[in-house]
Amino acid sequence: MTIMANHHSSLSYLDTARPEPWASFIEQIDRVAPHLGPLSHWLETLKRPKRILMVDVPIIRDDGTIGHYEGYRVQHNLSRGPGKGGVRFHPAVTLNEVMALAGWMTVKNAALGLPFGGAKGGVRIDPRRFSRAELERITRRYTSEIGIVIGPDKDIPAPDVGTNEQTMAWMMDTYSVNVGHTASGVVTGKPIALGGSLGRQEATGRGVYIAAREAGLRRGIPVAGARVVIQGFGNVGGIAARIFRENGAKAIALQDADGAIANPAGIDIPAALTHVAAHGSLAGFAGGEAISGEDFWQMDCEYFVPAALEGQVTPARARNLRTKIVVEGANGPTTPAADDILHERNILVIPDVLANAGGVTVSYFEWVQDFSSFFWSEEEINARLESIMVKAFAAIWQMAEERQVSIRTAAFIIACQRVLAAREQRGLYP
Ligand code: GLU
Repeated sequence: MTIMANHHSSLSYLDTARPEPWASFIEQIDRVAPHLGPLSHWLETLKRPKRILMVDVPIIRDDGTIGHYEGYRVQHNLSRGPGKGGVRFHPAVTLNEVMALAGWMTVKNAALGLPFGGAKGGVRIDPRRFSRAELERITRRYTSEIGIVIGPDKDIPAPDVGTNEQTMAWMMDTYSVNVGHTASGVVTGKPIALGGSLGRQEATGRGVYIAAREAGLRRGIPVAGARVVIQGFGNVGGIAARIFRENGAKAIALQDADGAIANPAGIDIPAALTHVAAHGSLAGFAGGEAISGEDFWQMDCEYFVPAALEGQVTPARARNLRTKIVVEGANGPTTPAADDILHERNILVIPDVLANAGGVTVSYFEWVQDFSSFFWSEEEINARLESIMVKAFAAIWQMAEERQVSIRTAAFIIACQRVLAAREQRGLYP
């Protein structure tokens, strides 16, 4: 095929004054271009989401007034299969953010070899400011509004920041009522009683641990005995902390939305998890000394795990970090400029699209189990998760060595090769 010049226009709906985090995603895509050979002809397809749905989510509040909230579902790419990715409830959700998160799902699913495209959703609310009944109404109305684009073979949402298995239960019920039959495969991360999968809740944290362990093996930094610092103590950071501990590491500092604590002897993670379950955050937990945000980012450790939101590892923080390995539990925690600084400082970064892929991998298992109505044991799930993560890690590591690029760029190379080969083989309609 003759390679012709490409012609494309910019995305008029982007706010150029606030380009992040989509700009970071685009920068990461640009860094892959030189490694794709003729497939780079198709790369522009990843720089624009395939489909964006923005919805108004109106509900009657408990006090009788009417609230309106902004909701999104972005299907970034569907070349390799149905859309897949979580739904975020957070006050800072924007279209730009959901686009980036959807793009990272495309790369993550392809890098792991899961038969999905990439998608993400969100509603711009602070879930802590709503009653349970209000959250149910928001979730149901949002699900109903995006019902035209989701479905077990179209696009399958899951939990993300601010949502959980209860949210997924309401989404599954709403979608099922609207289509007139129980469609358990429309979302993953559901309660076990509704077709959820054993091991799904802890899968992201387990995957973070597996990624850290594999990195440590290759760098001669065993997890057993290592000091770990974790930003975010929710479903990712909290569970990763527990599994690190079970494998002999000690968490010496934790940070959540309300502050940071440190304990050089190792924080008692089960006690911290019990405290958070009872009080909603680490605030008031006696098992560590309160430290400043500045000190938190300069703790001496072997593994640093950002497991909160994107854009947290800035260039300034990257210059100060005192760790050997960064394992990205969050999506998009490191900006491209900070990535370069970590690289110069010989700090190894295991990128989000590999390190936090355990969640969507077990989501894939859940979706398969729902389709076949045949459920696997927890041992089977954990063994299959382990095998997929270890294989993906090895392939990405090898690519990084061959091409002399970062682990992130290697993961993007493998993912983009898969997505763009599918794009090329399918061809363009019409
Ligand atoms: N929200 C998670 C992620 O960012 C899980 C997505 C899923 O299971 O579909 O990977």
